[in-house]
Amino acid sequence: MRILLLGGTSEARSLAALLAEHAEVTTSLAGRVSQPRLPVGEVRIGGFGGVDGLRSALRGFDAVVDATHPFAKNISANAVAACTGGGVPLLRLERPGWADRSRPSWRWVDTHEDAAAVAAGLGRRPFLTVGRQEIARFVPALRGHAVLARVVQAPDVPLPAAWRLITSRGPYALPGELALIDEHRADVLITKDSGGEHTWPKMEAAEQRALPVVIVRRPARAPELPTVHDIGEAVAWVRALTTMSR
Ligand code: NAP
Repeated sequence: MRILLLGGTSEARSLAALLAEHAEVTTSLAGRVSQPRLPVGEVRIGGFGGVDGLRSALRGFDAVVDATHPFAKNISANAVAACTGGGVPLLRLERPGWADRSRPSWRWVDTHEDAAAVAAGLGRRPFLTVGRQEIARFVPALRGHAVLARVVQAPDVPLPAAWRLITSRGPYALPGELALIDEHRADVLITKDSGGEHTWPKMEAAEQRALPVVIVRRPARAPELPTVHDIGEAVAWVRALTTMSR
């Protein structure tokens, strides 16, 4: 059983390790960061060239697991189109979102631009944690704010002089998040509903410091796509396919 694992997340790395004894796994990474954390097994890096490119690549695989980030909607849509057209089984592994843990102080919005506008009215010293790729969308509304922006890798776009950029990679712990908020004197947290546990401590820290949180909703997904939220369920899906193919 040859599995193409669309990755770029901690869940994909864990899944690659667990699947190693059941299947031949190739993890695909987009190549966004220069020094990615690599999973066990084969790795390929770079885009496929849209749906057609992905469909061609699928000739070398029996099934696909899309374990990409909840906000990586284009590759997921391409996977649905390519797998459906090519008759290749596709599973979506998506970490649970934070909607179930929502607090009264959270302001849910649909776009990053909305998040910027809402945050601009809530505070002067935002803690911005939406990732490098989206950061430019916050500049127009927050140009004059004292933004503390945390990213894994510095963005390509120039940032306003009033902003401070820190580069680091999670997971994060509550004491460090509290210290960062205190040190910056942050008065609003801006995030997206990445979900999971690795970046949850900033939400706890915001609650402890009574900061409002502006949170961007996840993009919509193909509703008919088989989806699991747990790595063990993804392993079971692959094992069932393996059994069926014998
Ligand atoms: P995206 O907008 O859905 O994808 C844009 C294009 O990048 C895709 O059309 C595809 O190019 C290529 N691509 C994306 N993921 C790929 C993968 N795993 N393997 C090969 N090509 C891939 O994705 P994104 O939001 O830029 O995210 C890129 C990667 O970073 C994903 O793997 C995701 O899991 C990871 N990541 C994203 C976020 C986030 O907030 N978006 C956070 C953490 C990690 P082609 O059309 O040429 O195939």
